[in-house]
Formats: sequence, structure tokens, C-alpha cells
Amino acid sequence: MAFDTTPQPALQADNLNKSYGAVDVLHDITLTMAEGEFLVLVGPSGCGKSTLLNCIAGLEEITKGTLHIGGRDVTQEPPKDRDIAMVFQSYALYPTMTVGENIGFGMKIRKVPKAEMDAKIMDVATLLQIEHLLDRQPSQLSGGQRQRVAMGRALVRDPKLFLFDEPLSNLDAKLRVEMRAEIKRLHQRINASIVYVTHDQIEAMTLASRIVVLKDGYVQQIGTPAEIYARPANTFVAEFMGSPPMNIVPAETTADGYLADGTLVPADTTEKPAKVLIGCRPEHFSVQTGDVALQVAPTLIENTGADAYVNFVWNGNPVTARLPAASVEMDQPSIDLRLDGQALCVFDADTGALIS
Ligand code: ADP
Ligand code: MG
Repeated sequence: MAFDTTPQPALQADNLNKSYGAVDVLHDITLTMAEGEFLVLVGPSGCGKSTLLNCIAGLEEITKGTLHIGGRDVTQEPPKDRDIAMVFQSYALYPTMTVGENIGFGMKIRKVPKAEMDAKIMDVATLLQIEHLLDRQPSQLSGGQRQRVAMGRALVRDPKLFLFDEPLSNLDAKLRVEMRAEIKRLHQRINASIVYVTHDQIEAMTLASRIVVLKDGYVQQIGTPAEIYARPANTFVAEFMGSPPMNIVPAETTADGYLADGTLVPADTTEKPAKVLIGCRPEHFSVQTGDVALQVAPTLIENTGADAYVNFVWNGNPVTARLPAASVEMDQPSIDLRLDGQALCVFDADTGALIS
């Protein structure tokens, strides 16, 4: 008998649904994740991210559909048999135990021999650069160090799948950025399969190998950060991912292109609806090059240091252009902008879906 050596997906959900009584929270979630991937579930608060993660962990029962971890059907399995480790937003460390004891607690319960346990704790502590803190109590640690201990507890498990639920949202902004980079490096070193939940699109963009965008319990798009940024599947994704968000401007389809408030964006418009929305990223405007010319009256110019955000109104909609700060006078009454027509997205005005 030959063994099937095809690599099994780290995670696979098929038509996964979750309801609480009459309230449907997750709708037909289907996704596959390869081993070693860093999959980020992102979406606004209340869209079902934690519920989906809890279904993967087995903390919530799936109402309909199936779930496989490492090729094994775990739909009916309790959390302890799923070979997962989870890090929550509110990571409670045991206050009376040292850092080392906190990290080793799970192993102690499972009666792992002491020498093996100590070696494992030291491995993980070294990886997280907290080996000098092993004898301290949680109260003697900073927020970032406590977060690292919480990750250490998950890392010693060496599971098939790591699940992170907004692990950085209790940290201040600077620490969040540092820990984000640290988690990314950690993933590169241990090559683990990670499902990571966040409402922060920057965290999603910077950490993910692939992103799943959720809204109201529905998958909006699954793709690499670059795909989702350049070709958002609909106007929700376009505006949710990116800061400032993609500009969305209503336009009429003509034989020569899209017409918005007297400005023609030349394009091949065969078989396009009469009314569309054109989407352009703030950085697709420039002062010099570009194939669409626009003379705009800024309503506000914000200087962020390197960039100036030039706000204006185009066809009734607020639009932001990102320009080099040095190229703009802060009190300029009128600016000639150019728009890179090649980079535009075009959405159906009725459904919001990307059409080209
Ligand atoms: P997120 O993590 O994306 O902020 P959640 O997964 O926590 O969102 O919640 C998704 C939706 O499910 C919310 O509308 C929430 O009110 C609802 N929900 C979560 N848990 C329960 C529950 N135990 N009973 C009823 N509704 C719930
Ligand atoms: Mg949540």
C-alpha cells in the first residue's frame, strides 16, 4: 500500500455556519490554509472573527459544515484533542507563579519529566528573549513582557495550529508595533501555521501571508495582502483596507471612458454598467505624471511629515490624495493633480462588486 504524501492543509473549513438560536453569526465560511501560512482574519468589531476562531478551537460548536485540521476531521472533537494552542487578548497569567512556572504549567499538568520541561521552557524563553525573567512574577513585568509570557505558554505546546485573538490590542501603540514585528520574525523562524484575528488592517497587511476579510459573518475576500490592496473584491474591502482608504467616486460610463464631474478617465468600457464607482488609492495621484488631469480646490491639506494629504471633493465625494509634502504649499488654493488611470478599480454602482 502506498502512502499518500500530498501535504494536508493546516486548516480547512467547508461551509461552516454558526448560529446562536435564531441569530446567524457565520455564513458558509469556506477557506483553506496551507501548512506554515500566517492567515489573518480581519474585519470590523462584531463581524464574527472571534466566533470563527472559537469554532476552530472547538470552544464553540459548529452549527453546520465541517472543519479539518492537518487533514483530520475535527468537527466533533473537543478542544483538547485538536492539537492547537491559543493566545487571547486578555491573557491571564497565574499571578503567584513565576514566568517559568507560567510557561511550564501545561507541561506540569501533563507530567512531562522535569529535565525535558526545563529545556523546553529555556528554548521558548530564549526565542522570546525573556530568559532573564524566568524567576520573576507577572506583577514585576511590563505589558510587553507579559504578552511574551502568554505567547511562551502557547509556543511550548508545539501544536499543529496556533490561534491568536487580537493578542496586541491591550498594548500601547508603540509596543504594538514592536510586538507585531516580533511575531512576524517568530513566524519566520518557527514556520508555524498561525490563524490570527485582528480588527486592525495594518496588522493584517503586515503580518499575513493571506488575509480573510469578514463582514457581518460573510467572507468578502481571501487573498494576499498585495492582491487585496490592489484589487479589492468590493467597495467594503476597498474602504476597509488601506489608510487613508481607497477613494470611491461615482462616474458615468461613456464610449471613451468614465466621466466624473467633467473629468474623463479614458478606459475600455465595453460591457460595463451605465453607472459605476471608480476607486483610486491616495498614492495614485501625483503632481507631475499620470494620464488623467484634475484641477482641484483643496478643502484641507494635512502635513504628516513625509506626505501631505490633500483633501478635496470630486463629483460630490470626499477624496484624499497623498503627495510628497515638499511638493505642496500648505495654503495652496488650487492644485493640478494627475491620476494614474491604469491603477484604477471600477465597481458596479448597484452591488459594489469589482468589475475591472
Ligand atoms: P468579533 O470578534 O469580530 O468582534 P464576535 O465573533 O465576537 O465578533 O461576534 C460576532 C457576533 O456574534 C456579534 O454580533 C455578537 O453579538 C454575536 N455573538 C457572539 N457570541 C454570542 C453568543 N454567545 N450569543 C449570541 N450572540 C453572540
Ligand atoms: Mg473578537
